[in-house]
Amino acid sequence: MSIHPSAIGFDLDCVVVDTMEAFIRLAREDYQLEVLPEEITEFQVEECLTIDQGIIDAIFKRLLDDPLASKMQPMPGAVSVLREMATIAPLTFVTARPDSAAISAWLNRTLGADACAASTLVAMGDHDGKGKHIKELGLSHFVDDRFETCERLHCDGIHALVFEQPWNKGRHNLPSVASWQEIAELLTTVDGCQLSVTS
Ligand SMILES: [Mg+2]
Repeated sequence: MSIHPSAIGFDLDCVVVDTMEAFIRLAREDYQLEVLPEEITEFQVEECLTIDQGIIDAIFKRLLDDPLASKMQPMPGAVSVLREMATIAPLTFVTARPDSAAISAWLNRTLGADACAASTLVAMGDHDGKGKHIKELGLSHFVDDRFETCERLHCDGIHALVFEQPWNKGRHNLPSVASWQEIAELLTTVDGCQLSVTS
């Protein structure tokens, strides 16, 4: 598999943004609740954690409303790979988040205004239906951590890559990537050269 940077798009939470690190940190700091990363085995965390639903909702609301104030971190390696990609083609993100302004500000701060200047960000407000947008954007490949989303995209004729997380491991038969280093290794420039990414 070799993908040109202009042909691939990305989900944000748990692919570009380390959403679960922020969830675990806010649970500990503000609610004195200890959650281990390996305990999050379901995409819907209430299905695997014994935390009050009101607390879960309150934490996720903060992560949606203000990623910068919540000090959300990028996934390891994401910034260098995306910045390198942005020198070749505009970046594209399609998220289930309902509002683009807050996460757009996070992207600008985290990736840099130069890397985001020509980028496209679609905030759908829904987990389903990404395929329509991805096709309209002319992308052939998409990376997402929700395997149900990837299976739908696969049915829509899009090459879906599952970003490996505890809640998708062993639950699908699609190609997966375990890190941004692995994503970088799939990317080539238009003349077939490997992208050079410095970490
Ligand atoms: Mg996600």
